[in-house]
Amino acid sequence: MKLKELIPRAHELADHYCIKDGKKFRLKDIDPGDTAWLKEEQKPLAKQALQEGIEALAELQERLYAQDRRSVLLIFQAMDAAGKDGAIKHVMSGINPQGCQVYSFKAPTSEDLDHDYMWRCLKSLPERGRIGIFNRSYYEETLVVRVHPELLNKQKLPPELITKRIWDERFEDIRNLEQYLTRNGVVVRKFFLHVSKKEQLKRFLSRLDEPAKNWKFSSADAQEREFWGDYMKAYEDMIRNTATDDSPWYVVPADNKWFTRTVVAAAVIDTLSSLDLHYPKVDEAKRQELAEVREALLGAN
Ligand code: ATP
Ligand code: MG
Repeated sequence: MKLKELIPRAHELADHYCIKDGKKFRLKDIDPGDTAWLKEEQKPLAKQALQEGIEALAELQERLYAQDRRSVLLIFQAMDAAGKDGAIKHVMSGINPQGCQVYSFKAPTSEDLDHDYMWRCLKSLPERGRIGIFNRSYYEETLVVRVHPELLNKQKLPPELITKRIWDERFEDIRNLEQYLTRNGVVVRKFFLHVSKKEQLKRFLSRLDEPAKNWKFSSADAQEREFWGDYMKAYEDMIRNTATDDSPWYVVPADNKWFTRTVVAAAVIDTLSSLDLHYPKVDEAKRQELAEVREALLGAN
């Protein structure tokens, strides 16, 4: 399929899950098992479209890199086993590694805790022309830290700054940061891979049952299931407060991996294709210079 045909299709699918105005957002309106208008039996077709999408992405990324003006920051957030790693791996599989930077943010180190919480993320922002991927991000500061407020006490904040307004303040700071980035040519897109509690259990069990997947399992992940309701509330509030026109959230149904990956690819294609990327134009003087170099190269032989 040609890029021209693919782009409107990608837009249609991505748009379905794109939240630009969080005010009315309710997480319960999005079913983790949803596959839009694609039926299970169309899975092979969707997989083929995904493959074509990945190829299209490579072309768009080349242009982003050549133009060297904007960068794209893709942020992934999800409960464990929702498929963040797989989505990142598949969707980015066709692109030039030189144009892509992936950072995973785990629990903060003692060096991280000696700084403000944005510090480690700001250091890792993508350079112009690059796609940066955050596997978790500063949003954890409104998720795991909100669900487990004792983590806040480890952040060495002056106590008077820890008030009940802290989450709203963090949302405000994040909105401002993302606006700042937008105004500096960094295009921010955020993905919440929305898996159901039932599907997560299934995936945890297969991590336990299949030796090759054992390394992926941690007993701490299982304990977090007890806080499922609190996490869902925190995710909903986060999206309601930080979905904007310029840096929307995609809430992607994540119970079917093939579908999750298709939607993520569609959203990335839609984003890149909206940027009017083109190869830098060569002006007359440069053309002349190239012609002279060509002559000289041939003459030297
Ligand atoms: P995997 O799919 O391999 O499990 P992961 O992203 O879950 O990948 P983990 O090694 O499990 O990686 O570590 C991530 C953990 O770090 C998560 O439990 C997350 O909540 C925690 N974390 C990330 N950022 C912060 C933060 N700012 N404060 C506290 N905990 C954080
Ligand atoms: Mg984990």
